[in-house]
Amino acid sequence: MKTFVFIGLLFIAFNTFAQSKYFSTYYEKSGCKETPRYDATIAYCKLLDKASTLIKYTTFGKSPQGREMPLLILDKNGNFTAETIHKSGNIILLIQAGVHAGEPDGKDAGFLLFRDIGIYKKMTALLDHVTVLFIPIFNVDGHERFSKYNRINQNGPAEMGWRTTADNLNLNRDYMKADAPEMKNWLKLFNRLTPDFFIDCHTTDGADYQYVITYGIENDGNVDTELIKWQNENYLTPITRLMGQQGYPIFPYVTFRNWHDPRSGLISNAAPPMLSQGYTIQRNRPGLLIETHMLKSYKIRVESTYKMIENTMFLLNKEHQLLHRLIAEADQRTAGENFRKTAFPVNFEASDKDSSLIDFLGMEYTIEKSDLSGGEWFKYDNTKPVTFKIPYFNKIKTTEKIILPKAYILSPEWSKIINVLKLHGITMKTIKTPLKIKVQSYKFKNPKWATSSYEGRLPLTSFDMDSITEERIYPLGSVMINMNQPGARIIAYLLEPKASGSLLSWGFFNTVFEQKEYAESYVMETMAREMLVNDASLKKEFEQKKISDSNFANNPRAILNWFYSKTLYWDNRMNIYPVGKIF
Ligand SMILES: [Zn+2]
Repeated sequence: MKTFVFIGLLFIAFNTFAQSKYFSTYYEKSGCKETPRYDATIAYCKLLDKASTLIKYTTFGKSPQGREMPLLILDKNGNFTAETIHKSGNIILLIQAGVHAGEPDGKDAGFLLFRDIGIYKKMTALLDHVTVLFIPIFNVDGHERFSKYNRINQNGPAEMGWRTTADNLNLNRDYMKADAPEMKNWLKLFNRLTPDFFIDCHTTDGADYQYVITYGIENDGNVDTELIKWQNENYLTPITRLMGQQGYPIFPYVTFRNWHDPRSGLISNAAPPMLSQGYTIQRNRPGLLIETHMLKSYKIRVESTYKMIENTMFLLNKEHQLLHRLIAEADQRTAGENFRKTAFPVNFEASDKDSSLIDFLGMEYTIEKSDLSGGEWFKYDNTKPVTFKIPYFNKIKTTEKIILPKAYILSPEWSKIINVLKLHGITMKTIKTPLKIKVQSYKFKNPKWATSSYEGRLPLTSFDMDSITEERIYPLGSVMINMNQPGARIIAYLLEPKASGSLLSWGFFNTVFEQKEYAESYVMETMAREMLVNDASLKKEFEQKKISDSNFANNPRAILNWFYSKTLYWDNRMNIYPVGKIF
């Protein structure tokens, strides 16, 4: 009998050993020093799917280079479709890794967590009220630009992918304009599964300090006030405590007032919605940015990411009922009439007033004047951890507010804009007959564009605008975008010209600024003379302009074009925003 028990135990031990070897991740097999390539990543996804009834491997579209974009789902009851997951009432947690493919920590941490829960059946209580969606690599094409020379500051893994997509777009600047096919796929996934909480895994650059993880969660600026409260009190406070107790102190994502220089103090700003966590919160879903610290070893970074996700799942289980209710209420509030009664802030800047002193766990450092570059040379000593008492400027200033209309209206030739709105899950009504309607809109002045390319576009960097009210005829096929929907914040950010990340600022409306008809000089020379004779105030305006603007006074083409602009032949739609606001 004893022999039998012994053999049985031996068998179980051997089996566990064999099993643990069999399900070891690529990262573990490498001694926590390497991350798998795309093919090995997909193979491991399929292995998890095959070995666990709790895990499903699926995809959410193809990349431009033809790679399937992977998605793993972890659910205690095997609910793997949007319909069944929503029906279950679980909180849906979306974890994303490799939006910057040179920062793969989240991929390796996520695999360990899925394996531990889904196969080893550890911590299965974390799935009681939570379903996890996991994108191990978002930027799949960039991931295969694999090299050890992609991240000069980063302490592992041995080789990693590249920051941007194959055509060099940074997906974490693309959440609003959605130029990249990968982002279009992501938005469709987001609309279909409407996750309740989102985690985006990164590795940061910057100064040396003790924190393994700094995080961003949008709790300033333009966020539903009840969600801010929940994020601060029910999420950030306990997770900061838990991570600290477990040996992974965390801190808000930091920008030093003087780059590299912790003693200069910290400053924070609102996350624009072109960034992941800035985007999801505009859809009333808390988004957490995890930035592991690039100077820490890959092993520590993966472990801390694992812990951050595990603790988040623990809290989401605890909070599932409240968070569900708060999200539903935030959606209702955003779609409601009261939402449009107060001016809506759409642009912010960091404020260097109002700071509070905080303790910051840094590393000792010196600053020397470099005899090579002439600049400041920061030398950190990671053997000397030190607590700095420094000012933290965490108040932000609203720089732009707008009055929200009942609806926006747009004619069908702006299909590019309409398509972007649809990608964000915005609903709209197509007009069946031409509509004559009084709208409020904008007339632009002094437009200036960037002088170098940014994310494949030449953005409009500054402009002035006047509000105008006019009667317009919107043709058949125009779309009416009512604001009584949960996506109202996104609509405002996309369509209000002054909003951070507006489609106008990205250059989607550049053609409205272009002069398409010109007057020949021999025509204008005669006509301008007649205009001066017939219109005394025009003459006065002309004389004044010549005095005040010497460039104008010395530019014959500009002078004649100025007279042309005062005729009835001038294009009266130039510089006019085609989007109408209906109140
Ligand atoms: Zn990143």
